[in-house]
Amino acid sequence: FPVEDIRNFSIIAHVDHGKSTLADRLLELTGTIDKTQKNKQVLDKLQVERERGITVKAQTASLFYSFGGKQYLLNLIDTPGHVDFSYEVSRSLSACQGVLLVVDANEGIQAQTVANFFLAFEAQLSVIPVINKIDLKNADPERVGKQIEKVFDIPSEECIKISAKLGTNVDSVLQAVIERIPPPKVHRANPLKALVFDSTFDQYRGVVASIALFDGMLSKGDKIVSAHTKKTYEVNQVGILNPNEQPTHKLRSLQPTCNCVCYYESDLFMWKSGVYPIDQSEYNNLKSAIEKLTLNDSSVTVHRDSSLALGAGWRLGFLGLLHMEVFNQRLEQEYNASVILTTPTVPYKAVLSSAKLIKEYKEKEITIINPAQFPDKSKVTEYLEPVVLGTVITPTEYTGKIMELCQARRAIQKNMTFIDENRVMLKYLFPLNEIVVDFYDSLKSLSSGYASFDYEDAGYQTADLIKMDILLNGNIVEELVTVVHREKAYTVGKSICERLKDSLPRQLFEIAVQAAIGSKVIARETVKAYRKNVLAKCYGGDITRKMKLLKRQAEGKKKLRKIGNIEIPKNAFIKVLKTQ
Ligand code: GDP
Ligand code: MG
Repeated sequence: FPVEDIRNFSIIAHVDHGKSTLADRLLELTGTIDKTQKNKQVLDKLQVERERGITVKAQTASLFYSFGGKQYLLNLIDTPGHVDFSYEVSRSLSACQGVLLVVDANEGIQAQTVANFFLAFEAQLSVIPVINKIDLKNADPERVGKQIEKVFDIPSEECIKISAKLGTNVDSVLQAVIERIPPPKVHRANPLKALVFDSTFDQYRGVVASIALFDGMLSKGDKIVSAHTKKTYEVNQVGILNPNEQPTHKLRSLQPTCNCVCYYESDLFMWKSGVYPIDQSEYNNLKSAIEKLTLNDSSVTVHRDSSLALGAGWRLGFLGLLHMEVFNQRLEQEYNASVILTTPTVPYKAVLSSAKLIKEYKEKEITIINPAQFPDKSKVTEYLEPVVLGTVITPTEYTGKIMELCQARRAIQKNMTFIDENRVMLKYLFPLNEIVVDFYDSLKSLSSGYASFDYEDAGYQTADLIKMDILLNGNIVEELVTVVHREKAYTVGKSICERLKDSLPRQLFEIAVQAAIGSKVIARETVKAYRKNVLAKCYGGDITRKMKLLKRQAEGKKKLRKIGNIEIPKNAFIKVLKTQ
């Protein structure tokens, strides 16, 4: 294919606005897949995607399309819409020259529509607005066209109105791709330069990378060097996705040697969560599962870690809660590995107060990773927490409630714009830790599902952080030390005490479960004394059942940890530490 007959484009949109359905129609229209089958989101290949009905991985397909007497090669990337996966979107965009910005004709512009538009705009890509679902009873493409004009400054006449479900007007989308998106600027005579924008691990073939070829060419047998790791790899096979893999002789270019394969790197804020095998004997299996899965999801960062309570494991960085859940589900479904995930924490920092300390830590600002090593106030000029700029788009009737929610989350309002008569866009600066766990769910429930949310990183701000201890009869439980914002200490402390109380087995004496800041106790629960007799449950004389119970109790004992004279089973830690 001559370069001028190639188009590289992504489909971007808010979640559920119809990206994957549009991709299906484009694949059918170009004869890439058979029309007679009932095709539904064919590019969503992962089990987790099919179950949740969402795209979490950007997917690629090459289409051949004849137009005006010429054949074109169209490389399409379908991207996820959810905020947690915007990393996949930005990585895909770096391999494209244009995007189809899909907007639902009924819902109109939503928070991720805005976020995704700006990603494309910053990357200087051609944006083709597509208004989808015009077949819906409540569709109002005119109103949505006006919103697009107001928010993105794109003339509403440029919008293509389609129904991806019924296939209405989808051919004009392909025509616009050819006419409005420029071909890539590649230099085939130069040495190889390619971007790895995705990779997976295949049991039989090793690493399979999806690449965007910028310069040069690539054939079987070539030795390539990663600009990121400086390691050399041999190419076993090259091909295109159509939409399934189709080996080709070579990917275009002229020179057999190559020297540069770059990786896209993210410096987004990460939510750190501990990941541990349920049983330590599973450590090696889990290690290999994590290695393979992170190859396919390189936005996850991995560091080895160990916990007094949970043993050897890792600290993984995720881009959000859904991202974490999806990663966990993929570990289970694709690698058959079960894990304990601990409540995520955000990267707090401390600015050291003296030259001596800076020398000791070799840094002026230290990131607080392990709460047990939280530097004391006397060593620090200030603590810092990460903040994000959040965008909420909502029907106006929910504005009041949403503002209250944002205030309760320590957010500061930055801006408020009406995008039409009954929709408003709010901008707030949020401490990241306030949206980590359930902000999105609360927002959805108080707006009956109508408000949408997205955010971008906005640096650090001063924060009043403190270290909180958890005590059992006056002895500190090392495993449960946490760093919290002073304002939230009581709520967090109380919740930990309650969960610990519920999961500690009663013992022969009473146990005081306390949360404390320094010597000040801020929350307390009591576990009443009780003598647990495992045999009491077995009425009658089923001896094998009794033996089983005794054996199980003995096994449980092996995993106990002692704090003072109190025995804590591993399960109790799991219940307190893992995300609910
Ligand atoms: P994505 O999250 O943007 O990939 O959206 P999907 O392609 O998965 O579509 C979300 C839902 O909208 C699915 O239930 C689709 O069947 C539906 N949908 C997509 N396009 C249309 C359309 O043109 N009309 C109607 N009525 N429904 C559509
Ligand atoms: Mg999708």
